[in-house]
Amino acid sequence: MNDYIVRATAADGAVRAFAIHSTELVEEARKHHNTTPVMTAALGRTLSAAAMMGAMMKGEDDILTIRIKSDGPAEGLLVTADSHGNVKGYAYNPHVLLPLKRRGKLDVGGAVASGFLSVTKDLGLKEPYTGQCELQTGEIGDDLAYYFMTSEQTPSAVGLGVLVDVDSTVKQAGGFIIQLMPFAPDEVIDRLEARIAEVGSVTQLMEEGLSPEGILERLLGGMDLQLNDTLPARFYCDCSKEKISRVLGTLSVKDLSEMADAGESVEIVCDFCSTAYVFAADEMKEVLRQRMLKLAGRLGVLNDESMYETPAIEAKAGPAEDGTDA
Ligand SMILES: [Zn+2]
Repeated sequence: MNDYIVRATAADGAVRAFAIHSTELVEEARKHHNTTPVMTAALGRTLSAAAMMGAMMKGEDDILTIRIKSDGPAEGLLVTADSHGNVKGYAYNPHVLLPLKRRGKLDVGGAVASGFLSVTKDLGLKEPYTGQCELQTGEIGDDLAYYFMTSEQTPSAVGLGVLVDVDSTVKQAGGFIIQLMPFAPDEVIDRLEARIAEVGSVTQLMEEGLSPEGILERLLGGMDLQLNDTLPARFYCDCSKEKISRVLGTLSVKDLSEMADAGESVEIVCDFCSTAYVFAADEMKEVLRQRMLKLAGRLGVLNDESMYETPAIEAKAGPAEDGTDA
């Protein structure tokens, strides 16, 4: 089954719900980052949640970022999603090893432990919106439910699960987010609470063969559940050599000069997908040249190629041509 997100409502709009099948995208993340089972679970839960939260956003170019700063061995996680089902992310320490908890459960709470969770939404407004809360258990689902309650004033049930196979690959991954609107009647809240208490873990439901629609049916069936639409989901990193060279171009001229002068190739690894980009010695010289040209432009000397040979300091010596006082 390919990964996808289902968007739904129930109880006459008093409930909005999302569910995801994310086995493939979590396996993709595991392969990129070579995560240990407990970190596959921690990253997989965060990726699954971020993909659903991305699907809550309305704008074409909206971006959502979940940052977890952890005092535990995981150190932290960073995950970004757009509104089209694309998600990417990484764990600061992908190689945490911890003993299993009772009944073979991966100890995500032990790996992430205490710390902070923040959610940033860039909705194309002047300032991105950021909400933050303290981690409650480090199990991710509980922490996000607490975030929704305290930062967005939206009571939510968040279920996230990743089942790692004996060979460390991802056997099942998925989740749901169910949110109550302020006008939700008490009887709806009571029924939903009872259903959530009844069902086992997300991975158990998936092992029973339930699809995201089936999971929502189990939780919200008989409550006027409306399945609105589905959205394909995938692990996708939009990095490229050109983008990485632009990032390189923000380094100081001094640092770039040192790299270029060393005459060796430089390898830059994308944090989000672990793809390595190699810049040969002459490519580093070109990055440096572009950096110098940009600097010259900023100093008001818009002239040309010769800037590479002319020390930038000379351009600074004359009257300030960019309109500020020297
Ligand atoms: Zn990348």
